[in-house]
Amino acid sequence: MPGRQRFANRREFLAATLAGTAAVALRGSATASEAAPPFPTYEKAQIAITLDLEMARNFPNWGDTHWDYEKGNLNQAAKDYTVAACNRVKARGGRIHTFVVGQVFEQENVEWLKQIAADGHPIGNHTYDHIYLLAHSPAELQYRFSRAPWLIGGRELPDVIRENIALTNIALKERIGVKTNGFRTPGGFATGLENREDIQNILLGLGFDWVSCRYPAHAGMEDLYGSGRKPSQLAFDEILRAQADSQPLRYSTGLIDVPMSPVSDIGAFRTGRWELESFLEAVEMGVNWAIENKAAFDFLAHPSCLGVVDGNFRAIDLICDLVAKSPEKAELVTLDAIVAKAKPQLSPEREPS
Ligand SMILES: [Zn+2]
Repeated sequence: MPGRQRFANRREFLAATLAGTAAVALRGSATASEAAPPFPTYEKAQIAITLDLEMARNFPNWGDTHWDYEKGNLNQAAKDYTVAACNRVKARGGRIHTFVVGQVFEQENVEWLKQIAADGHPIGNHTYDHIYLLAHSPAELQYRFSRAPWLIGGRELPDVIRENIALTNIALKERIGVKTNGFRTPGGFATGLENREDIQNILLGLGFDWVSCRYPAHAGMEDLYGSGRKPSQLAFDEILRAQADSQPLRYSTGLIDVPMSPVSDIGAFRTGRWELESFLEAVEMGVNWAIENKAAFDFLAHPSCLGVVDGNFRAIDLICDLVAKSPEKAELVTLDAIVAKAKPQLSPEREPS
């Protein structure tokens, strides 16, 4: 039950973060309503644009499913869109935080990625085969391994997971000379890596002190295909409500999570089969919420999906425009920059005094 998990997690999140930042404010204030919000805040809202560099089933054609087996085999359109988006954001004074599926480094030409890195766009790790980190069996890890189980043989699950992440770091280094900047889990989980200290420790052991994993649950995402209808008010209300749930948090192991902010392009265009205008409306709402609350907004899209429905970069331009409109209140940042500012506010749990 994602809903139940979400609330349990929310309570834990509140408890953990109240002990940090808000406790300071609580001590000096008369009522809890005057207290600081239960998440890190910043001098300026931290607005990040992130792209997961992978292919996505149902795109560019709804019947496409073969990408499930070759997530990292980016087609030319996805690569072109990524490069153009990066150039666009750089021209506005920002950078895109990308997360790469390591398999792409098996392609003949990776000059485009080298150029992105040279232009200052951080490249993070999105595993080698786009594996499911919460898998309970090797077959659950990824379609590729259920079709070709001999690829992982009789190895233990934690070893396979560790190797699949480590390989991407190695490929990044060997193929384009880049040090990995952060980790994003394939798929976002409503409860993040809560209660999965084993996975947190694998990531910490590989040198990651932060991940981008949590994607809060939000109701109302019905499939609108062919209906000509706009998303319901409930869908928008839920996306707005979920913004506070997508703020940086700290797990018991010390690992930091910078959640993805709803709604993602896949959520809007695959799950909901929305029109672009509705997606833009939701993105604007999320960015404005972050600006009003001095919070973070972690925009998540995929060039293989967004590139198909938004060839003119309207979503990315919109985010840049919203930040440019409020230079005193917002800035375009990468996820590592958010971590640097959030981390001191997410100190280990203490009882509010
Ligand atoms: Zn992914």
